Amino acid sequence: MSEPLPSRAEQIERNKDKTNLRPGLAFVEQHLSQYQANVDRFLSGEGFPESRAFAEGRAFDLSNADQNTPPQISIADTQNLIAHIPPALIRLSELKTVDFRYHNMVGVPNFAEDGNLDRETLCRGVVTADEFVRKPQDYHPQRLLIGVTAQDGQTIFPTAIPSTVSTNPQAIRLYQLHVMLHEFFHTIELTRRDDEKSAAIVINRATGRTFADWARDYLRSLEEEKILTSEYSAVYADRLFDGQGNILPDVTPYDVPVREDMAEAWVASHFDIISNPHGYTSFSNYAFGNPHPEHQLRKHGVASKRAALMKELRTMQ
Ligand SMILES: [Zn+2]
Repeated sequence: MSEPLPSRAEQIERNKDKTNLRPGLAFVEQHLSQYQANVDRFLSGEGFPESRAFAEGRAFDLSNADQNTPPQISIADTQNLIAHIPPALIRLSELKTVDFRYHNMVGVPNFAEDGNLDRETLCRGVVTADEFVRKPQDYHPQRLLIGVTAQDGQTIFPTAIPSTVSTNPQAIRLYQLHVMLHEFFHTIELTRRDDEKSAAIVINRATGRTFADWARDYLRSLEEEKILTSEYSAVYADRLFDGQGNILPDVTPYDVPVREDMAEAWVASHFDIISNPHGYTSFSNYAFGNPHPEHQLRKHGVASKRAALMKELRTMQ
């Protein structure tokens, strides 16, 4: 027996609800001790001296920030996170500034008629977290966008998780670390969303393999595995797959939906856990529907192609 098809109104609401941040935070709350332990493991020790020097050399701009509320992600946490990213990747980052002007504000999604995110604008604007919570008639209390990176990859703007999404400070901190790591990935790839620039980045000197080769393989991995990495990247499923789970013909490795899933897999690869609707609690051990995990992937110690690709990026010299 199959479920009856949803009405158009129901489908619009379902589409809009893809931006609902509550399931993402609920996942962290549900797996809080494991999540915390994984993040602690990633952040243990001093990290890489070169990466730490980079982190400490960035500008952390609080000059336009709401001074009455502390940011949900601290400067120390941000620096420590960056200090643990391998230097070969740090050298590719355009990041210059973490600007806290929106740290107490919420990004309001801009929906198209069908309830999916409007492809051009995505965001309707930002409002203070207070106003967002106080006016449920204007803002759905749990549908929002979080974290912004400027188009030139040079500035990350942290934003807030409102109390309508979570009141657990530990879960909020862990999710904000996720968002910061996600945004950091954008500071590496945002300015390289074309063949020429991506082909100029050699990720394996011995073989001459480039970031463009890697990105093409990432798109192929989604074609094979068909399941998106996280609660968040599933927002873009309709722009990646047709009804049968095939990648739409015009999708390239440089399109936003692919880059968003990459950014989520990048986070998942560092923490080995990420909020997801499938219930997996180890990114490296989950196959994402890969039909031959044993045969092809054993040598990488992971169960999916995307995890092998992320490991390749993490271990590049
Ligand atoms: Zn993103």
